[in-house]
Amino acid sequence: MAKPLIVCRNLDIIYNKGKSNEFRALANVSTDIYEGEYIILFGASGSGKSTLMYSIQGSLPPGGGTLLIGGEDIYALPIIERVYFQRYVMGIIFQQFNLIPSLSVLDNVALPMIFANADKVTRERRAQSLLDRFGVGFVSHKIPAMLSGGQQQRVSVARSMVNDPKILLADEPTGNLDSVSTQQVMDKIDEINTFDRRTIIMVSHNAAHLSYAHRVYYLKDGWVVREVVNPQRKQIKPVKEGETIVTELEQLARLYPYDSVDTLRVKSLVNYLTQDYTYNQLVRLEQIIAKYIAGKIDNKTLLRSLTSQYEKGGVEIPQKEAVRMIKLSKRLLEQASDVRRFRADNKTSKLFFDQHKLAERLRDHLLSSNRLKLAKKQDNNLVELIADRVVGVKNEAEFNEMLQKSVSSGGLSINEKEADGLTRYFEKLIAQGVDVSYKS
Ligand code: ADP
Ligand code: MG
Repeated sequence: MAKPLIVCRNLDIIYNKGKSNEFRALANVSTDIYEGEYIILFGASGSGKSTLMYSIQGSLPPGGGTLLIGGEDIYALPIIERVYFQRYVMGIIFQQFNLIPSLSVLDNVALPMIFANADKVTRERRAQSLLDRFGVGFVSHKIPAMLSGGQQQRVSVARSMVNDPKILLADEPTGNLDSVSTQQVMDKIDEINTFDRRTIIMVSHNAAHLSYAHRVYYLKDGWVVREVVNPQRKQIKPVKEGETIVTELEQLARLYPYDSVDTLRVKSLVNYLTQDYTYNQLVRLEQIIAKYIAGKIDNKTLLRSLTSQYEKGGVEIPQKEAVRMIKLSKRLLEQASDVRRFRADNKTSKLFFDQHKLAERLRDHLLSSNRLKLAKKQDNNLVELIADRVVGVKNEAEFNEMLQKSVSSGGLSINEKEADGLTRYFEKLIAQGVDVSYKS
């Protein structure tokens, strides 16, 4: 199994140690960051996000604990090697851009290559091509002050990439930008992660950014108070059992703390329906699915919206695929309404009986949707497992594991692939049917 690229173990950082204004900015912080991950350090102002990032960057030695990057303790390296490391392994983007005012945009980007013995022509060619890539090539001969904030930040994104770093660090890179520029910068950073496959560590206190990350570390008063996996991104870090929370919807609720339950349902369903659409198509699809879930449009309108051209308000999904999506959504939502009905009146009625009946119905849904044929004993076990999962006695991982166990020990004795398929569908089903009341 791959080892993490960056390991922080029980880090402590104290500012002004021994003085009257001594302040503990990080206490016992542990994080594992894997190559290719997009990690967000999230938390209120003063929670220690920047402190952690600069410590990882090599300019703030921890007072206690271990920090390893690629297995190396960078603070134990001779200073020259540490500088090399900061220059070629890490790229960095600041909230305030930190461009040199007297140099042209092109020279700002080319500057970090001076130390790499590249000749002037090579430096300028590379700088220009990065500026082009990030949409600011046409201003390369201006000085930074002539540019808008959004343009300046895209210049610093280009600069951060000029020495081809493995890890890109960004400290609230959109903190000074308007919403349009924010979107552009976030898209570029996302591209560096998904296309260039660089590891990203971003500091943010904007909840709208959380969906970009594979995982989010929430900081509070110098502590990591929780780590949340983004269920909408395929994970790089191996996810441990027991880390999964009760339902996908609850996970989503933690990831999007400001979204309503209805919005989360939309995200869950859209995630189920799509794998390979563009961001714009997904946003459009979410809007349309939201109307569908709310019962505001019928199947015919849905089909038209899914298939028509993007310019005309559609999602541009091929007819055949759209028909498949509608069929799946319709079935999932109908089946999920069982879970909702059960949840709505389970306080008042004969709990056990209803629960069992619900589990049997869900079993029927599950089997019909997954074309699985079960023997009597398997079938009984499945109903039991479903009942346990619906009331939360078992979590998703346990449910999945039990499906693969032998029939005599309460399982179905099916293979991993079949179990994953069943689990995935079932989790979608209960996500549509279960309300979350998330409290931090
Ligand atoms: P964040 O990036 O989450 O806003 P920081 O990591 O910048 O938080 O700071 C965490 C805490 O440490 C804050 O209370 C801040 O005032 C304090 N702090 C940061 N830098 C210093 C410093 N150089 N000297 C003393 N205290 C500092
Ligand atoms: Mg900060």
